[in-house]
Amino acid sequence: MNEKKNKLTPMMQQYMEIKEHHQDSILFFRLGDFYEMFFDDALTASRVLEITLTGKNCGLEERAPMCGVPYHSSNGYISKLVEKGYKVAICEQVEPPSSAGIVKREVVRVITPGTVIDNSMLDEKQNNYLSSVTVLKNSCSISYVDVSTGNMLSTEFKDPINDKNIIDLYNEICKVNPSEILSNRNLEEIFSAHKLNSLDTVLKNLNIIDQGTDTDYYLNMIKDHFKVISTEVFGIYPEDRASILSIGNLLEYLYSTQKISLDHINQLACYKTDDYMIIDNSTRKNLELTEPLRGTDKKNTVFNVIDYTKTAMGARKLKKWLLEPLQDIASINCRHDAVEVLYNNIIVSNNIREHMKRIYDIERLMSKITYGNCNARDLNSLNQSIEVLPDLKCDISTLDAKLFNEISKNMDTLLDVHEMIATSIIENPPVTIKEGNLIRDGYNEELDELRNISVNGKEWLNGLIDQEREKTGIKNLKIGFNKVFGYYIEVTKSYLNLVPEDYIRKQTLANAERYITPDLKDMEAKILNAESKIVELEYEIFNDIRLFVKNQIERIQQSAEMISTVDALNSLCTAALKNSYIRPEMSVDGIVNIVNGRHPVIEKVLKDERFIENSTYLDKDENRFSIITGPNMAGKSTYMRQVALITILAHIGSFVPAEKAQISLVDKLFSRVGASDDLSSGQSTFMVEMSEVSNIINNATENSLIILDEIGRGTSTYDGLSIAWSVTEYITNNIMAKTLFATHYHELSELEDKIKGINNYKIMIKESGEDIIFLRKITKGSIDKSYGIQVARLAGLPKNVINRSFELLEKLEEIDLNKKNSLNLSDTKIKNEIPVSTDENREQVSFWNYDAKYKDFISENILNLNINS
Ligand code: ADP
Repeated sequence: MNEKKNKLTPMMQQYMEIKEHHQDSILFFRLGDFYEMFFDDALTASRVLEITLTGKNCGLEERAPMCGVPYHSSNGYISKLVEKGYKVAICEQVEPPSSAGIVKREVVRVITPGTVIDNSMLDEKQNNYLSSVTVLKNSCSISYVDVSTGNMLSTEFKDPINDKNIIDLYNEICKVNPSEILSNRNLEEIFSAHKLNSLDTVLKNLNIIDQGTDTDYYLNMIKDHFKVISTEVFGIYPEDRASILSIGNLLEYLYSTQKISLDHINQLACYKTDDYMIIDNSTRKNLELTEPLRGTDKKNTVFNVIDYTKTAMGARKLKKWLLEPLQDIASINCRHDAVEVLYNNIIVSNNIREHMKRIYDIERLMSKITYGNCNARDLNSLNQSIEVLPDLKCDISTLDAKLFNEISKNMDTLLDVHEMIATSIIENPPVTIKEGNLIRDGYNEELDELRNISVNGKEWLNGLIDQEREKTGIKNLKIGFNKVFGYYIEVTKSYLNLVPEDYIRKQTLANAERYITPDLKDMEAKILNAESKIVELEYEIFNDIRLFVKNQIERIQQSAEMISTVDALNSLCTAALKNSYIRPEMSVDGIVNIVNGRHPVIEKVLKDERFIENSTYLDKDENRFSIITGPNMAGKSTYMRQVALITILAHIGSFVPAEKAQISLVDKLFSRVGASDDLSSGQSTFMVEMSEVSNIINNATENSLIILDEIGRGTSTYDGLSIAWSVTEYITNNIMAKTLFATHYHELSELEDKIKGINNYKIMIKESGEDIIFLRKITKGSIDKSYGIQVARLAGLPKNVINRSFELLEKLEEIDLNKKNSLNLSDTKIKNEIPVSTDENREQVSFWNYDAKYKDFISENILNLNINS
């Protein structure tokens, strides 16, 4: 091997040495204006990027496979590789090329899916998180950072590792939705062992790494990085091992991949997941909070209907708020107060929106500035953004709400930063920073002097043309410049006889000759010297300014944070105005009372129909559990989702689509809606349903809100009904959570009279001949017909199929009636066969025909629910 290595050309040896340290990345090796890839990297990259594979002489017999991309257009290629999950190590020339030996090269950055900072690779309304997950025996933790904005967050789940902790961790990972995960354990295995879908949508780019375990070492690293004396300021104590390791390993990975300044990552937010309403992953997905359930069109998401933000920072903050409904009533009221005050001051709200339109993504600009890959245009964008601050602050100061008072008191308008950039950087600078034309006249004396020389020199040249033309009589004599000969005098062939003797011939063209003179060369030296000095000096000044701005990063980040809050609040105000929302009243009395509520998304997408409002009343007592019946398409699931969404919106500080809303704090929101078939995870629809129900039963509390859109489908009617029945009993009697349950099992409506807290509701329809008309209104009572065939007719099933269905239905109903009669007779027998039931409510199970085939299944499920405990 060594022998082979010795045969390599010196440049290839250098390549190999660098590549050895970056085995897991595709190495972009800078050669002049190109990034070249060699060997296996070249094979992979040429295939993924669809670029030509060539070869390069490397000193061995066979040429090395090679492909390359131009430096100037490399971003697109890098993002394509990163999107596909590859890491790209950027290896630059770190000293100017010289004639002696090979130029020194180093990897300056490794770009991975979680550490992308280039705007073209990022969604501006979305954080791009790199996360680190540590699973230990007694705790686990997830920490994550958005390298493009500098936000770092962390949370830990204590207690010995059990199902609940793993589910909590899973839900948190789903919520954070990281682009890349580093973990000490194979999360895929852990999650599938808990029947949690760990497909690549959740665990994108999972790297199982050998995480360090020395907590003291990492504690010190955290302290050093965030420049604090103790990590207790973040609420991290030495016993919080999982947090320390996950944060520490995250930092370590950043250090190894981002070899440049990470000064913008200077805040760490440690939180507990129960600081926020717990919304499990399937509920979040089903409610289409930020992502559509199907397809990629985000138009019909809740986020989209409340997002009137004007800055990318505001949009990201609003999205975070939506995913993290608050649990502290005072904080929720603070947001409501702020939205209300804006709502009542439309002119100020409009002004704020106009200011926001002029603000760029300061957070991402600051990370570019810290990384040192910003240009003068970025500084101008930053400046244009902070220029707005004094007016913005002035507008905010007129708003009388606690949040705005704090912001107007504390907002730094960054006048010095503004002054610095405004006086130094020219209005329309070029993209490059190494070719001058960046700095204003009057900013730096030395630069002004050099520019004078250069300008005067050029004037001198202009004068020289006139002077020489007059002296020689060569009318078309001109002065030109090229890189080889510098300045020259050009004379066309027809005037050659007039060329004076002191002209020194330099170059012969087809129909002209080029000359120099000693005077011309003197001036050339002066001009060129000045020009190269100008370029160097401008670059130096630019870096000083960049450093000045970078040193103000914490102040700038704080102002950016305030801007994002104001933008998010103003967005909620605009949403309230545009969508006719009202301020909800928050309480802890356990009552949810919504008068004429609406579904925030459906009301917007309906084209021909008007959205019909519906009210909701749930409490801790007589109205805990609503059983909702109604045909398919009647609006059951819309109604239940509407209650869930109004509850979430109220908790994030938003106004809500209703005439009046009183919302008691909800600690957890659960849903079992829609049959999201999870075939790819090897689970049937029924299994997914049952896992979701089991999750609800194990985790809901009396302060939770549960919405159940049918349970027990996908198995025999009697199985399904039994499960639905026992789940209803269990939730009402044991958990006492507020629950909405839409069902086709009309039999369940009997529970209203049997269990305190259960009420029947139906979505009204009108029969018109054989057709039905949906009235969309919810009212007390229940419907004992499914109208399935009428709905099937609406769906366009052929007439003869529909008619035949009606015929069959009639027959089946007859049989069913007879069965029920006979069932009543066999009541006692069935009671004895189900071993668990001594409870009075349980006797209801015996109401149905009992099929021996399902005996074990039913009793197992009922037993598992521990109905009597
Ligand atoms: P179900 O769950 O009873 O099958 P959905 O809630 O899915 O019915 O409602 C079906 C469709 O009916 C919705 O997509 C919507 O277009 C319409 N719809 C539902 N509720 C309302 C309402 N309150 N006002 C107007 N249209 C509604």
